[in-house]
Amino acid sequence: EETFAHPVAVALAVVGEGRVVPVTNGLADEFFESDGQITKRPVRALALSALAPRPGELLWDIGGGSGSISVEWCLSHPSLRAICIEPRADRAARIGRNAATYGLDRLSVVEGAAPEALDGLDAPGAVFVGGGLTEALLADLENRLSPGTRLVAHSVTLETEALLTGAASRLGGTLMRVEISEAAPLGPKRGWKASYPVVQWQVVL
Ligand code: SAH
Repeated sequence: EETFAHPVAVALAVVGEGRVVPVTNGLADEFFESDGQITKRPVRALALSALAPRPGELLWDIGGGSGSISVEWCLSHPSLRAICIEPRADRAARIGRNAATYGLDRLSVVEGAAPEALDGLDAPGAVFVGGGLTEALLADLENRLSPGTRLVAHSVTLETEALLTGAASRLGGTLMRVEISEAAPLGPKRGWKASYPVVQWQVVL
């Protein structure tokens, strides 16, 4: 009996319900189990673009949430590894499930809060901060990370944004603010439903 092995088909990953996973970053949110705390698709694509994974690198994903950033990091190339740092037990377990869905034994989870939970981890090539950002965490990362490490942080609140703008004036890098609206029903018509603006800070330490 002849088997069909199309050269492209063998490279495709298939997840639950036989859904084929697109090969780009910014996967639909439905590709991840979440409790609502997830970096949404368009903003996730911007995060991965800023993180700019290079072959062989390790990511620290501080504030792992659902693990979507780490999953997409690991799917970008088979040589990539990620560690999620997430203090909530339910979310740490969910990250493990999302990693297993994609067969990613290169993604591990540390259940704990940064910066304490960072002790003893392998040095990363890039760090994403999607939660838990404080002045103390920033100061700790400045001390802990080697020169050349790429750092990307997102803020939604004014308080976290103030930390990021302050850090950017000290350390440089780029600040970007994204405001995304999606068309949604508005009475009998449609309007642009705005999400909270997100500020992204990207710096090479
Ligand atoms: N990027 C994630 C969503 C992050 S939500 C995703 O795509 O799924 C922010 C997360 O940061 C929450 O799960 C919260 O529990 C976590 N968090 C809060 N304080 C933290 C700390 N000090 N260290 C690590 N994670 C923290």
